[in-house]
Amino acid sequence: MNGLTPEITFDLQLSEHRVSDDVRAKMLESPGFGQIFTDHMVSLIWSDDQGWHDGKLMPYGPLSLAPSTAVLHYAQEIFEGLKAYRQESGSVVAFRPYSNAARFRRSAVRMAMPELPEDAFVHAIELLVAQDKDWVSANPNHSLYLRPMMIATTPGIGVRRPASDFRFLLIASPSGMFFTGGVQPVKVWIADDYVRAAPGGTGAAKTGGNYAAGFAGQLEALAHDCDQVVWLDAIERRWVEEMGGMNLCFVFGSGPSARIVTPALTGTLLPGITRDSLLTLGPDLGIPASEDRISIEGWRAGCASGEITEAFACGTAAVITPIGEVRHKNGGWTIGDGKPGPVTLRLREELLGIQFGRLPDPHGWIHKIV
Ligand SMILES: *Cc1c(COP(=O)(O)O)cnc(C)c1O
Repeated sequence: MNGLTPEITFDLQLSEHRVSDDVRAKMLESPGFGQIFTDHMVSLIWSDDQGWHDGKLMPYGPLSLAPSTAVLHYAQEIFEGLKAYRQESGSVVAFRPYSNAARFRRSAVRMAMPELPEDAFVHAIELLVAQDKDWVSANPNHSLYLRPMMIATTPGIGVRRPASDFRFLLIASPSGMFFTGGVQPVKVWIADDYVRAAPGGTGAAKTGGNYAAGFAGQLEALAHDCDQVVWLDAIERRWVEEMGGMNLCFVFGSGPSARIVTPALTGTLLPGITRDSLLTLGPDLGIPASEDRISIEGWRAGCASGEITEAFACGTAAVITPIGEVRHKNGGWTIGDGKPGPVTLRLREELLGIQFGRLPDPHGWIHKIV
């Protein structure tokens, strides 16, 4: 393409079967998480010879793919997750969409897929959210979850080389609380027999295969009456990495001496944008924040001695979720008194306050759409 990136544009093909106002209002009352979708989606095609082309905003609906399509066999796929919020003023905003766009590019590189320019990624979000803005609830516990993704669409089951055709799609799902029950603490199960990601693998890429590899561990967690699985590092099976689809954070000390520590990015965990935001927000609130290694014995001993006072998981979907109890094949322990702690709740209020426009946005994280 002569080193020039042609502008990526999107045609508008509006749905003729939009959900009526009444039905939509009913659907938005208790949307659940990731169960219902808006009237439209965005689609964009890549081929090695034409680059990105055929962009459109179109009615949400099923895809038609040959059974031999590459993604169905070899999981060449990446995705993102971010939210649009209706602020009190009535405007609809996204939170740090350029950070998701940058991570989408990094995931693409790891999975041998074409990079989508960040402006096109954000433009797609603006188009869909502006078109389907009536799906963004004014309920401050609800938001519009956005799911950008890219799949390999080349037909044929040979694997000599990665696919040469891809499709970018963006869909939107009105969502309530991720964990039913609000800010109830979750119980976590530490997986010993399964590993989510190994050095050199795909742990830092947002790709479906990481989840496919994790479901057996999640089932084990459920079988032990836990809500979520916590992953350890693949080599020593000792260092705490992350929880299900969320990063982890530990609170050491309390009151004015409280500080937060999150596992350092080793290449095997997903660099969460919520995690990154908290590394900035903590210090804003006078709570020092650092990245370090935390072992499973350190977590247990820290809770026993009272040095670790709280632990929580963080991610776009569930924001900040307190962890009340840990279970492991050699026994378990409670964190603090098992209830959501003050630092956890403070950070949660601060982050949601910025997202919903109740608090100032000193870091320019809010991206206004309409
Ligand atoms: C998406 C994701 C996270 C959280 O990232 P956010 O950008 O904060 O939503 C954490 N871990 C995994 C495995 C993820 O897929």
